[in-house]
Amino acid sequence: MKWFISHDTLRSPFQATIERHCKERIGHCYQCGKCSAGCPIAFQMDYLPNQIIRMIQLGMEKQVLSSRTIWLCASCLTCTVRCPREIDVAEIMDYLRRCAYKKGVIPIEETEIPLFNKIFLRNIELFGRLYEMGLIGMYNILSGEFFKDMALAPKMFLKRKIGILPPRIKNSKEIKKIFRESGRLGRTRRDKLLHPKLIFLNISRKIIGKIERFK
Ligand code: SF4
Ligand code: SF4
Repeated sequence: MKWFISHDTLRSPFQATIERHCKERIGHCYQCGKCSAGCPIAFQMDYLPNQIIRMIQLGMEKQVLSSRTIWLCASCLTCTVRCPREIDVAEIMDYLRRCAYKKGVIPIEETEIPLFNKIFLRNIELFGRLYEMGLIGMYNILSGEFFKDMALAPKMFLKRKIGILPPRIKNSKEIKKIFRESGRLGRTRRDKLLHPKLIFLNISRKIIGKIERFK
């Protein structure tokens, strides 16, 4: 990819904004590549973690936020512990994901990741701990894969791996309060459960995929 480096791109506010939010010094990265060498997901990424850091330094906001890398990152922290400049790359990836989600610039191949993430968190907020049936049902409906893994359900019920009813926990109100407070501390309204654009992209992608298979 060609990128024109100018005074403006190098002084773009993108890097400063990330540094402020993540409390990291991205300018300290000297491109040793240790983060990418240890990353277990690097083979699937469109840009390696060190390339993402370099792109941030060059002010390539649009390319960074629309990359698949930030959604594929598994937050394993390998890059963070390996960085000789003590840059928390995993934290930066997390911030970039939130940023991309808010701006709605999620790559079409990865729309299922934020969808799953949102449904998972909402599930915990509602029931206090994971209610698998609710998670699977909601994910299947909103991702457009209505009957995905349905054949496995009876076996899992019989082996008591999943339950029909939601789990009961003590102090479920406390969990809801934690979620409420986390939104307040972040000084932002918590994201809506599901981005309408995300649902539309997911379902349309599935339908197009099915039509193409029949051709
Ligand atoms: S390990 Fe640290 S210094 Fe090396 S390329 Fe990655 S972020 Fe930069
Ligand atoms: S936290 Fe993300 S970028 Fe860092 S090593 Fe793990 S998967 Fe790779």
